[in-house]
Amino acid sequence: MKIQFIGATHEVTGSCTLLEVGGKYYLVDCGMEQGKDVFQNIELPVSAADIEAVFLTHAHIDHSGMLPKLYKDGFKGSIYATAVTCDLCNIMLRDSAHIQESEARWRKKKAERTGTVPPEPVYTMQDAVGAISLFRRCNYGEIINPAQDILLRFTDIGHLLGSACIELWISEGDTHKKIVFSGDVGNTNQGIINDPKFVEETDYLVIESTYGDRLHSKERRDVVSELAGYLQSTLDRGGNVIIPSFAVGRTQEMLYILREIKQKGLVKGHEHFPVYIDSPLANEATAIFMQCDHTCFDAETLSLIKQGINPIWFDDICISSTSEESKQINFDGRGKVIISASGMCEAGRIRHHLKHNLWKENTTVLFVGYQAEGSLGRKLLNGEKTVTLFGEEITVNATIGSLHGTSGHADRDGLLNWLYGFKKKPEKIFVNHGDDSSCENFKNLLCEKGYIAEAPYSGTEYDLASGNMTVFTEGKTINREEAYKGSARADLLYSELVKEAEKLLSLVKGRKGKTNKDNAKLTSQIRELITKWKE
Ligand SMILES: [Zn+2]
Ligand SMILES: [Zn+2]
Repeated sequence: MKIQFIGATHEVTGSCTLLEVGGKYYLVDCGMEQGKDVFQNIELPVSAADIEAVFLTHAHIDHSGMLPKLYKDGFKGSIYATAVTCDLCNIMLRDSAHIQESEARWRKKKAERTGTVPPEPVYTMQDAVGAISLFRRCNYGEIINPAQDILLRFTDIGHLLGSACIELWISEGDTHKKIVFSGDVGNTNQGIINDPKFVEETDYLVIESTYGDRLHSKERRDVVSELAGYLQSTLDRGGNVIIPSFAVGRTQEMLYILREIKQKGLVKGHEHFPVYIDSPLANEATAIFMQCDHTCFDAETLSLIKQGINPIWFDDICISSTSEESKQINFDGRGKVIISASGMCEAGRIRHHLKHNLWKENTTVLFVGYQAEGSLGRKLLNGEKTVTLFGEEITVNATIGSLHGTSGHADRDGLLNWLYGFKKKPEKIFVNHGDDSSCENFKNLLCEKGYIAEAPYSGTEYDLASGNMTVFTEGKTINREEAYKGSARADLLYSELVKEAEKLLSLVKGRKGKTNKDNAKLTSQIRELITKWKE
């Protein structure tokens, strides 16, 4: 009866925890690491084929994204999740496989030119389809029996449609213990979905800490008027409002707010402004939101449905699926809203819309989610005056803003509030799913409040019968230079750089005898370049 922490330890992404009960192995979440990766994760210490089942908290890729890889490596057990999580994973894992395959194709093309061996895709569409076939649909509140020694219940945690915290009752002989995994704890008063539901008791708790040391600044009510204000001023200037948004969850919340703005006539003089949803995944996800079981919805949404109002749909929505339809959006001369992925502007169609709109003074680009350091989204928010898109330098003349109060995560007080829902203190709390400082600070806060809390690193293991630590590991930071050297893409980019530099040198050598004025100009340009890159 053991728990071993694998991923999302002192980090936000790559959620994955291993349980051993009666000599059999189970995973809670099997997520992909995304964005900034600080600490090294241990490899799964058992083979994928030896894992009996996966219990999945919700569909976000940082919790579900490695399921196709697990399948590829031989996992043939069942994946237990709520019905909506199964539906969302059906589209999201296919989308993720599509991304893996196209990245691999891109690397292959490059590798052919340089005569190196291209790395395989992490997984293929076939692997994703294989993993999807292993999903078992569960209902909220129902106690199920996925294995002889385990009982399992999903409880709505109000983070994403279908998201759950997982309660597990595990037994080994006469030892019976309960462990609860919070999953991602939702923010209260989010549109569409319920507030997190409480759990009454547990021996052990694994809790996330994304905002473990921060408070959200504004209430959702303000978001409606804030967005209406941006729309009014931009449409009055004849411009477009571009919203980079995550396709699943955030896009539907934006539609919910836009529907309210339209219904209440909060934007004057532009009654039928069009709203383009330019993302096939977002459109598929919107369809799932509209067809799903009503137990996922909050009271406000249910009351809208009772009145015959679709909470996330209105007449002026324009769907664009194909890339041709996406291009056509630029020919619609009306002031409009364009919602497109990716949320951090790192890939996808949003980059085309930015290229076409960032240089215009009457454009507004509105961020509605977290922007990781180094992402194009963060650069724009930081006020950079030029950005590079598709090899072209684009001047940023647009207004750049961000909508507050739209986080899908509980803040520090929200996490504490959910924790206070337990009638008695858990024996021990494990804090994960937060970057280094959030995770540590939240753990320390819990200790100050009289809880026994720990923030394990990847590889640390506990015996759940006694509560004692059985394996201790320290956080191993990733050696950036090693990671850089190992990356095939980095090698390619570096060799391109050298090639271009060699071309520059031969160009310079060929300039002997050319006009003094031009040579002096080139010299000063090269000197400037050297000064700029010296650091
Ligand atoms: Zn999540
Ligand atoms: Zn998460």
